[in-house]
Amino acid sequence: MCDFCHKHGEGKKWYLQARNYSEDLLSDIRRRKFIIDFFSKPESLDESVTKLSKLDTAPGFVKRVMTRRISNKMKKIHFGQVVPIEDIELIFDFVNSIVRIACICRQISIGSEQRYCYGISMAPNGGEFGQIIRGINASYLTGPDTAGLESLSKEEALASFRDHEHDGLCHTVWTFVAPFIGGICNCDRTDCMAMRITVKHDVPVMFRAEYIAGVDPDLCNGCRACMLACQFGAISYSAAQEKAVIDLRRCYGCGVCRSACAKNAILLSDRSSMRVTANLW
Ligand code: SF4
Ligand code: SF4
Repeated sequence: MCDFCHKHGEGKKWYLQARNYSEDLLSDIRRRKFIIDFFSKPESLDESVTKLSKLDTAPGFVKRVMTRRISNKMKKIHFGQVVPIEDIELIFDFVNSIVRIACICRQISIGSEQRYCYGISMAPNGGEFGQIIRGINASYLTGPDTAGLESLSKEEALASFRDHEHDGLCHTVWTFVAPFIGGICNCDRTDCMAMRITVKHDVPVMFRAEYIAGVDPDLCNGCRACMLACQFGAISYSAAQEKAVIDLRRCYGCGVCRSACAKNAILLSDRSSMRVTANLW
Protein backbone atom coordinates (compact mmCIF):
# COMPACT_ATOMS: atom_id res chain seq x y z
CA MET A 1 0.00 0.00 0.00
CA CYS A 2 1.25 3.49 -0.80
CA ASP A 3 1.61 6.30 1.77
CA PHE A 4 -1.80 7.69 0.92
CA CYS A 5 -3.56 4.36 1.62
CA HIS A 6 -2.18 4.56 5.18
CA LYS A 7 -2.82 8.29 5.60
CA HIS A 8 -6.07 8.76 3.72
CA GLY A 9 -7.51 5.26 3.28
CA GLU A 10 -7.14 3.59 6.70
CA GLY A 11 -5.04 0.86 5.09
CA LYS A 12 -7.35 0.38 2.10
CA LYS A 13 -7.00 1.91 -1.34
CA TRP A 14 -7.37 5.62 -0.62
CA TYR A 15 -8.95 6.39 -4.00
CA LEU A 16 -11.75 3.90 -3.30
CA GLN A 17 -12.84 5.82 -0.17
CA ALA A 18 -15.94 7.87 -1.04
CA ARG A 19 -15.17 10.44 1.65
CA ASN A 20 -12.09 11.58 -0.30
CA TYR A 21 -14.43 12.81 -3.05
CA SER A 22 -16.92 14.43 -0.69
CA GLU A 23 -18.36 17.89 -1.11
CA ASP A 24 -17.54 18.68 2.54
CA LEU A 25 -13.85 18.96 1.70
CA LEU A 26 -14.65 21.78 -0.72
CA SER A 27 -15.74 24.07 2.10
CA ASP A 28 -12.02 24.61 2.81
CA ILE A 29 -11.20 28.10 1.46
CA ARG A 30 -7.55 27.20 0.83
CA ARG A 31 -8.61 24.25 -1.30
CA ARG A 32 -11.06 26.35 -3.34
CA LYS A 33 -8.35 28.93 -4.00
CA PHE A 34 -5.92 26.21 -5.06
CA ILE A 35 -8.45 24.79 -7.55
CA ILE A 36 -9.20 28.22 -9.03
CA ASP A 37 -5.50 29.10 -9.35
CA PHE A 38 -4.67 25.68 -10.81
CA PHE A 39 -7.20 25.89 -13.63
CA SER A 40 -6.99 29.61 -14.30
CA LYS A 41 -3.18 29.92 -14.57
CA PRO A 42 -1.96 27.17 -16.92
CA GLU A 43 1.23 29.16 -17.60
CA SER A 44 2.39 28.63 -14.00
CA LEU A 45 2.42 24.84 -14.60
CA ASP A 46 4.59 25.36 -17.65
CA GLU A 47 6.99 27.55 -15.64
CA SER A 48 7.25 24.87 -12.93
CA VAL A 49 8.25 22.21 -15.47
CA THR A 50 10.86 24.55 -16.99
CA LYS A 51 12.32 25.19 -13.51
CA LEU A 52 12.34 21.46 -12.73
CA SER A 53 14.21 20.64 -15.92
CA LYS A 54 17.16 22.63 -14.48
CA LEU A 55 17.43 19.93 -11.80
CA ASP A 56 18.50 17.45 -14.49
CA THR A 57 21.98 18.96 -14.51
CA ALA A 58 22.23 19.72 -10.77
CA PRO A 59 24.82 17.87 -8.62
CA GLY A 60 23.48 14.53 -7.27
CA PHE A 61 23.15 15.70 -3.65
CA VAL A 62 21.25 18.86 -4.62
CA LYS A 63 18.96 16.89 -6.89
CA ARG A 64 18.17 14.32 -4.16
CA VAL A 65 17.35 16.99 -1.56
CA MET A 66 15.24 19.03 -3.99
CA THR A 67 13.41 15.96 -5.31
CA ARG A 68 12.41 14.89 -1.80
CA ARG A 69 11.33 18.43 -0.93
CA ILE A 70 9.22 18.88 -4.08
CA SER A 71 7.59 15.44 -3.78
CA ASN A 72 6.69 15.99 -0.14
CA LYS A 73 5.22 19.41 -0.91
CA MET A 74 3.20 18.04 -3.83
CA LYS A 75 1.85 15.20 -1.65
CA LYS A 76 0.09 17.84 0.41
CA ILE A 77 -1.47 19.65 -2.55
CA HIS A 78 -1.58 18.02 -5.98
CA PHE A 79 -0.41 14.42 -6.17
CA GLY A 80 -1.59 11.53 -8.31
CA GLN A 81 -1.61 7.78 -8.58
CA VAL A 82 -1.74 5.47 -11.57
CA VAL A 83 -4.97 3.44 -11.49
CA PRO A 84 -5.88 0.53 -13.80
CA ILE A 85 -9.24 0.46 -15.55
CA GLU A 86 -10.83 -2.08 -13.18
CA ASP A 87 -10.35 0.33 -10.25
CA ILE A 88 -11.59 3.26 -12.37
CA GLU A 89 -14.77 1.22 -12.80
CA LEU A 90 -15.03 0.81 -9.00
CA ILE A 91 -14.68 4.60 -8.58
CA PHE A 92 -17.41 5.19 -11.17
CA ASP A 93 -19.65 2.79 -9.20
CA PHE A 94 -19.85 5.07 -6.18
CA VAL A 95 -19.53 8.63 -7.55
CA ASN A 96 -22.74 10.36 -8.60
CA SER A 97 -21.51 12.43 -11.51
CA ILE A 98 -18.77 12.34 -14.12
CA VAL A 99 -17.95 15.36 -16.29
CA ARG A 100 -15.36 15.63 -19.04
CA ILE A 101 -13.25 18.77 -19.37
CA ALA A 102 -10.36 20.03 -21.48
CA CYS A 103 -6.88 18.94 -20.37
CA ILE A 104 -4.73 21.75 -18.98
CA CYS A 105 -1.47 19.90 -19.84
CA ARG A 106 -2.33 19.42 -23.52
CA GLN A 107 -3.46 23.02 -23.71
CA ILE A 108 0.05 24.02 -22.67
CA SER A 109 2.05 21.37 -24.51
CA ILE A 110 0.24 21.24 -27.86
CA GLY A 111 -1.86 24.41 -27.68
CA SER A 112 -5.20 22.82 -28.45
CA GLU A 113 -8.19 21.50 -26.61
CA GLN A 114 -8.00 17.78 -25.88
CA ARG A 115 -10.73 16.36 -23.69
CA TYR A 116 -8.85 13.75 -21.67
CA CYS A 117 -9.70 14.88 -18.11
CA TYR A 118 -12.71 13.92 -16.02
CA GLY A 119 -14.16 15.59 -12.94
CA ILE A 120 -15.87 13.24 -10.52
CA SER A 121 -18.20 14.12 -7.70
CA MET A 122 -20.48 12.62 -5.08
CA ALA A 123 -23.07 15.27 -6.06
CA PRO A 124 -25.04 15.49 -9.34
CA ASN A 125 -23.74 17.40 -12.39
CA GLY A 126 -20.17 17.85 -11.15
CA GLY A 127 -21.29 19.18 -7.75
CA GLU A 128 -19.46 22.04 -6.09
CA PHE A 129 -16.23 21.15 -7.93
CA GLY A 130 -18.10 21.61 -11.23
CA GLN A 131 -19.46 24.96 -10.03
CA ILE A 132 -15.95 26.16 -9.22
CA ILE A 133 -14.66 25.07 -12.67
CA ARG A 134 -17.62 26.69 -14.45
CA GLY A 135 -16.82 29.96 -12.68
CA ILE A 136 -13.23 30.08 -13.97
CA ASN A 137 -12.61 32.37 -16.92
CA ALA A 138 -9.96 30.44 -18.86
CA SER A 139 -10.27 30.19 -22.64
CA TYR A 140 -9.52 26.47 -22.81
CA LEU A 141 -12.43 25.85 -20.39
CA THR A 142 -14.89 28.45 -21.60
CA GLY A 143 -13.76 29.49 -25.11
CA PRO A 144 -15.62 28.93 -28.39
CA ASP A 145 -14.03 25.52 -29.07
CA THR A 146 -14.88 24.04 -25.73
CA ALA A 147 -17.93 21.99 -24.87
CA GLY A 148 -17.53 23.13 -21.25
CA LEU A 149 -18.30 20.41 -18.76
CA GLU A 150 -19.89 17.49 -20.59
CA SER A 151 -21.88 15.21 -18.30
CA LEU A 152 -21.34 11.51 -18.98
CA SER A 153 -23.05 8.37 -17.72
CA LYS A 154 -20.86 5.74 -16.10
CA GLU A 155 -21.12 3.59 -19.25
CA GLU A 156 -20.16 6.51 -21.54
CA ALA A 157 -17.22 7.43 -19.34
CA LEU A 158 -15.96 3.84 -19.18
CA ALA A 159 -16.21 3.49 -22.97
CA SER A 160 -14.11 6.67 -23.34
CA PHE A 161 -11.55 5.36 -20.85
CA ARG A 162 -11.26 2.12 -22.83
CA ASP A 163 -10.67 4.17 -26.00
CA HIS A 164 -8.01 6.24 -24.19
CA GLU A 165 -6.35 3.04 -23.03
CA HIS A 166 -6.32 1.62 -26.57
CA ASP A 167 -4.62 4.88 -27.60
CA GLY A 168 -1.94 4.08 -25.00
CA LEU A 169 -3.00 6.59 -22.31
CA CYS A 170 -2.53 5.80 -18.64
CA HIS A 171 -5.28 6.60 -16.07
CA THR A 172 -4.32 8.67 -13.01
CA VAL A 173 -6.34 10.06 -10.04
CA TRP A 174 -5.43 13.50 -8.63
CA THR A 175 -5.81 15.37 -5.38
CA PHE A 176 -6.65 19.06 -5.17
CA VAL A 177 -5.18 19.64 -1.73
CA ALA A 178 -5.01 16.11 -0.34
CA PRO A 179 -7.03 14.08 0.40
CA PHE A 180 -9.75 15.57 -1.83
CA ILE A 181 -9.83 13.80 -5.22
CA GLY A 182 -11.37 15.94 -7.95
CA GLY A 183 -10.30 14.37 -11.19
CA ILE A 184 -9.03 11.49 -13.25
CA CYS A 185 -6.68 12.16 -16.16
CA ASN A 186 -5.48 10.11 -19.10
CA CYS A 187 -1.76 10.71 -19.42
CA ASP A 188 1.14 10.15 -21.75
CA ARG A 189 4.78 10.99 -21.22
CA THR A 190 4.96 13.45 -24.12
CA ASP A 191 2.13 15.84 -23.30
CA CYS A 192 1.29 15.27 -19.64
CA MET A 193 3.25 17.51 -17.27
CA ALA A 194 2.98 15.15 -14.30
CA MET A 195 4.30 12.18 -16.24
CA ARG A 196 7.12 14.25 -17.69
CA ILE A 197 8.08 15.46 -14.22
CA THR A 198 7.87 11.96 -12.74
CA VAL A 199 9.35 9.85 -15.52
CA LYS A 200 11.62 12.19 -17.48
CA HIS A 201 12.89 14.45 -14.69
CA ASP A 202 12.69 11.72 -12.02
CA VAL A 203 10.82 13.92 -9.51
CA PRO A 204 7.81 11.83 -8.40
CA VAL A 205 4.49 13.70 -8.34
CA MET A 206 2.45 10.53 -8.62
CA PHE A 207 2.55 7.06 -7.11
CA ARG A 208 2.79 3.89 -9.13
CA ALA A 209 -0.38 1.76 -9.16
CA GLU A 210 -1.11 -0.72 -6.39
CA TYR A 211 -0.41 -3.34 -9.05
CA ILE A 212 2.43 -4.80 -11.09
CA ALA A 213 2.32 -6.45 -14.52
CA GLY A 214 3.64 -9.87 -15.50
CA VAL A 215 3.82 -11.79 -18.81
CA ASP A 216 2.60 -15.37 -19.06
CA PRO A 217 5.34 -16.97 -21.20
CA ASP A 218 3.01 -19.78 -22.27
CA LEU A 219 0.66 -17.27 -23.92
CA CYS A 220 3.15 -14.67 -25.22
CA ASN A 221 4.04 -15.07 -28.91
CA GLY A 222 6.71 -12.34 -28.88
CA CYS A 223 4.80 -9.93 -31.16
CA ARG A 224 6.12 -6.90 -29.16
CA ALA A 225 2.89 -4.87 -29.43
CA CYS A 226 3.02 -4.31 -25.66
CA MET A 227 6.45 -2.67 -25.91
CA LEU A 228 5.03 0.14 -28.02
CA ALA A 229 2.16 0.69 -25.59
CA CYS A 230 4.19 1.06 -22.39
CA GLN A 231 4.65 4.74 -21.44
CA PHE A 232 7.33 3.83 -18.93
CA GLY A 233 9.77 1.85 -21.08
CA ALA A 234 9.29 -1.17 -18.81
CA ILE A 235 8.99 -3.86 -21.48
CA SER A 236 11.82 -5.36 -23.49
CA TYR A 237 12.10 -8.31 -25.85
CA SER A 238 14.15 -11.36 -25.04
CA ALA A 239 15.56 -12.71 -28.29
CA ALA A 240 16.68 -15.87 -26.49
CA GLN A 241 13.17 -16.63 -25.17
CA GLU A 242 11.31 -14.89 -28.03
CA LYS A 243 9.02 -13.33 -25.40
CA ALA A 244 8.28 -9.94 -23.86
CA VAL A 245 9.92 -9.32 -20.48
CA ILE A 246 8.76 -6.74 -17.92
CA ASP A 247 11.27 -4.84 -15.79
CA LEU A 248 9.44 -4.80 -12.45
CA ARG A 249 11.42 -1.82 -11.22
CA ARG A 250 10.17 0.29 -14.13
CA CYS A 251 6.58 -0.97 -14.28
CA TYR A 252 3.95 1.48 -12.96
CA GLY A 253 1.17 -1.13 -13.02
CA CYS A 254 -1.12 0.88 -15.30
CA GLY A 255 -2.27 -2.17 -17.28
CA VAL A 256 -2.19 -0.33 -20.61
CA CYS A 257 0.02 -3.06 -22.13
CA ARG A 258 -2.86 -5.53 -21.60
CA SER A 259 -4.99 -3.60 -24.08
CA ALA A 260 -2.28 -4.01 -26.71
CA CYS A 261 -1.91 -7.77 -26.19
CA ALA A 262 -4.09 -9.86 -28.49
CA LYS A 263 -3.03 -13.02 -26.62
CA ASN A 264 -4.16 -11.85 -23.17
CA ALA A 265 -0.70 -12.75 -21.99
CA ILE A 266 -0.34 -9.87 -19.48
CA LEU A 267 -1.86 -9.91 -16.03
CA LEU A 268 -1.76 -7.45 -13.14
CA SER A 269 -1.11 -8.64 -9.61
CA ASP A 270 -0.85 -6.94 -6.22
CA ARG A 271 2.32 -4.81 -6.04
CA SER A 272 2.83 -5.81 -2.41
CA SER A 273 2.90 -9.51 -3.34
CA MET A 274 6.47 -9.20 -4.65
CA ARG A 275 9.44 -8.28 -2.51
CA VAL A 276 11.13 -6.25 -5.24
CA THR A 277 8.07 -4.00 -5.78
CA ALA A 278 6.32 -3.99 -2.39
CA ASN A 279 8.02 -0.77 -1.30
CA LEU A 280 8.60 0.75 -4.72
CA TRP A 281 6.26 3.66 -5.29
S1 SF4 B 1 1.70 -8.06 -26.80
FE1 SF4 B 1 1.31 -9.96 -25.66
S2 SF4 B 1 1.90 -11.57 -27.06
FE2 SF4 B 1 2.81 -9.70 -27.86
S3 SF4 B 1 4.88 -9.65 -26.92
FE3 SF4 B 1 3.53 -8.48 -25.56
S4 SF4 B 1 2.88 -10.01 -24.05
FE4 SF4 B 1 3.70 -11.16 -25.78
S1 SF4 C 1 4.61 -2.82 -18.25
FE1 SF4 C 1 3.76 -1.85 -16.44
S2 SF4 C 1 4.02 0.35 -16.80
FE2 SF4 C 1 4.28 -0.67 -18.79
S3 SF4 C 1 2.22 -0.59 -19.71
FE3 SF4 C 1 2.41 -2.56 -18.64
S4 SF4 C 1 1.54 -2.19 -16.61
FE4 SF4 C 1 1.96 -0.17 -17.52
